[in-house]
Amino acid sequence: MTTDPCFLGIHELHDRLRRREMSAVELTEALFQRIDATDDAIRAYLAICREQALEAARRADARLAAGEVSSKLLGIPVALKDVLLTDGVTTTCASRILDGFTPPYDGTAVRRLKDAGAVPLGKTNMDEFAMGSSTENSGYAITRNPWNLDHVPGGSSGGSAAAVAAGQCIAALGTDTGGSIRQPASFCGIVGLKPTYGRVSRYGVVAYASSLDQVGPMTRDVTDCALMLQAIAGHDPADSTSVDVPVPDYAAALTGDVKGMRIGVPIEFFATGLQPEVEQAVRQGIRELEKAGAVVTDVSLPRNDYAVAAYYIIAAAEASSNLARYDGMRYGPRAEAGDLTATYMKSRAQGFGKEVKRRIMLGTYVLSAGYYDAYYLKAQKVRTLLKQDMESALSGCDAIVAPTCPTTAFKLDEMTQDPLQMYLSDILTISVNLAGLPALSVPCGFDDAGLPIGMQIIGKHFDEATVLRLGYAYEQATEWYTRRPAV
Ligand code: GLN
Repeated sequence: MTTDPCFLGIHELHDRLRRREMSAVELTEALFQRIDATDDAIRAYLAICREQALEAARRADARLAAGEVSSKLLGIPVALKDVLLTDGVTTTCASRILDGFTPPYDGTAVRRLKDAGAVPLGKTNMDEFAMGSSTENSGYAITRNPWNLDHVPGGSSGGSAAAVAAGQCIAALGTDTGGSIRQPASFCGIVGLKPTYGRVSRYGVVAYASSLDQVGPMTRDVTDCALMLQAIAGHDPADSTSVDVPVPDYAAALTGDVKGMRIGVPIEFFATGLQPEVEQAVRQGIRELEKAGAVVTDVSLPRNDYAVAAYYIIAAAEASSNLARYDGMRYGPRAEAGDLTATYMKSRAQGFGKEVKRRIMLGTYVLSAGYYDAYYLKAQKVRTLLKQDMESALSGCDAIVAPTCPTTAFKLDEMTQDPLQMYLSDILTISVNLAGLPALSVPCGFDDAGLPIGMQIIGKHFDEATVLRLGYAYEQATEWYTRRPAV
């Protein structure tokens, strides 16, 4: 077991901080040292906020010194995906169109972490506006996978995933619209949770596809994931889609006991195109849960083949509308041209990257009068059917277990010429967003090249507790989550 504080869990660090064996300032400095030593190679961070972080750490130390121990996050250094608004710290969504933009307030999830005493270290790289599966669509930098620097960390929350895996923060926040927390978690060998749509406030999250976006934790183990979710979950009057339902005690769900729990294995998710090592590792993972007393049954998601098509219509449609606000007038740089329209056009032409432009054009097309019924409306109907499939599969079990992604992390540049191939990387995560369900990815092994594999646990609406309970029981039975990359 490691004793490097950069790789300890929130729960372990909390004990050390509480016993005053280490101060929050010392811990924060240790993480900055680690970032300085490793981030030239990994490029997980877009912005580091050293001064603010040390100030927050000093405040945490004062709270600890005053005897406050109620919040486990007090003094814990975290990283935030650059899609989350942070008061006084640049927020660009990795887009040139928001170059230098500094928001005047915190998003709710960020605010809740800060109130709990967490120490934000900086903002992490991502695919521009969260559009992508490799973090190669960033307008600023290419993030590399800490397990093998020739491979992508996944995306779009690739910076957060790489930072957690490389010990550059203790935990991070990501967002997941079609898999962007779970797929990079799987590629980087960490734990990632996409909560139920409505569980975590989207206030202060730059919108990509508003009916799908959700903020969630990325951590090195399930216990930390539960603690992070506890801090950010719950109703927020500032987000009309956040739901006013009770937030259970997630740590209490981590009993290790899964006897009699029913898990459904979707036959279609194992049908085609899985990398053999992924299939093997996930099947082995399911056997572990069975050994722990869970009851395994087959379930069917018969229409999952339509998920990618429906998602890339709906997400692009919403994005084309959401991104209309970037016109060079209100946020970020302006490219002056002859008149107002020309200035809009030039600012957008210069500010947006290739993939974002592709999505805006696709989205505008599927919403246009002549094509709305054929594409957008049809996709919405498919969404309803996919949701029904998920709900009917979940009606016979407590959770669904499957691979998170068909493959392990691909090589840099391997998919950039073929967007469709890249979109297919999301085939096992997307239906969960379309249905609004919670899902966790936990490390479950490595392929022959030493790259991590993730197992996905999908739960019923607002039943993150069950998902975490299964993930924790699995984690206790294995040691995959304790492995660390060499960087
Ligand atoms: N890869 C998907 C996309 O490009 C999902 C991204 C996400 O979840 N933000 O849209």
